[in-house]
Amino acid sequence: MFDLRSDTVTQPTAAMRAAMAAAPVGDDVFGDDPTINALQERVAAMAGKEAALIASSGTQTNLLALLSHCQRGEEYLVGQEYHTYRYEAGGAPVLGGIVPQPFEVSSDGTLDLAAVAKRIKPDDPHFPITRLLALENTHTGKVIPQSYMEQARQLVDQHGLKLHLDGARVFNAAVATGLSLAELSAPFDSVSICFSKGLGTPIGSVLVGDKAFIKRAHRWRKMLGGGMRQAGIVAAAMHHALDHHVARLAEDHDNAAKLAAGLSQLPQLQVEPAQTNMVYINYGSAAVAKQVSEHLRKQDIVVGTAQRLRLVTHLGIPATAIDGIVAAFKEALAQLS
Ligand SMILES: *Cc1c(COP(=O)(O)O)cnc(C)c1O
Repeated sequence: MFDLRSDTVTQPTAAMRAAMAAAPVGDDVFGDDPTINALQERVAAMAGKEAALIASSGTQTNLLALLSHCQRGEEYLVGQEYHTYRYEAGGAPVLGGIVPQPFEVSSDGTLDLAAVAKRIKPDDPHFPITRLLALENTHTGKVIPQSYMEQARQLVDQHGLKLHLDGARVFNAAVATGLSLAELSAPFDSVSICFSKGLGTPIGSVLVGDKAFIKRAHRWRKMLGGGMRQAGIVAAAMHHALDHHVARLAEDHDNAAKLAAGLSQLPQLQVEPAQTNMVYINYGSAAVAKQVSEHLRKQDIVVGTAQRLRLVTHLGIPATAIDGIVAAFKEALAQLS
């Protein structure tokens, strides 16, 4: 079975499960879990930050970041299509009284910094207090240029704001650019990193930042019910992913490029260039999208049903599968015409 809907569908490997089973654990609410403590120190060091905190999901690490940077009545600047605005159920306004100020996302995945600057509020009791700019890397698979991140840093410094990165797939950006996690994180006050995407763990994200920030995030995590006990079994999977599943993201990127090249030979499809581990294809119609998805399903290939559809490569899609996937698309499309 090849499931191309997302890189979150990966199964923990036998070696990862063995690492989880063997992990020394303790009560992490007491700070006693050695595997968690080591993981947090390891990721903080890799990111070049003072401290790190593990949480269940990227939604939670992003929420912890927003709650820890912004007070009630304060505002964060964000992209309309960014996860921290659109896909987190409004957690920051609901739970933190934090006001979002969204912007259109440009085709390269960035926000127009001149437009952002215009919306930074002056000190006036009519307005929320602008506190934070939240960016994303990668965004829909696109790697955001580091020069842009440095410009964003200059902008926030001019206005006394903080800068957060939703780095759910920041390791894909690291592998694609050759930049280290520390280099990619350098412009940011905080970074949220997912391990349950391309890195292939069943659960787990990490938030990094300075010590005072992580201390605030720790309190918020407890309040949200996110304090976990013998969660070293999760941290062991994350250690395993850092050891074995980072460099191999290059294979996912190669496979996405190969998939895009193969599918672009099919005249019924419009194929956008592969971006890291994602390929977007466009069908002529919603009905075609649905029929192709149903046909592929019979071949044990799982894809979504959107008219503009995301295909994602990951640990569970070996290079040897790509030709067969392209052939199955070809057959599915041929059956329709
Ligand atoms: C997946 C994802 C997250 C976090 O999602 P969870 O499912 O809560 O771990 C955050 N940002 C982006 C861009 C993502 O793709």
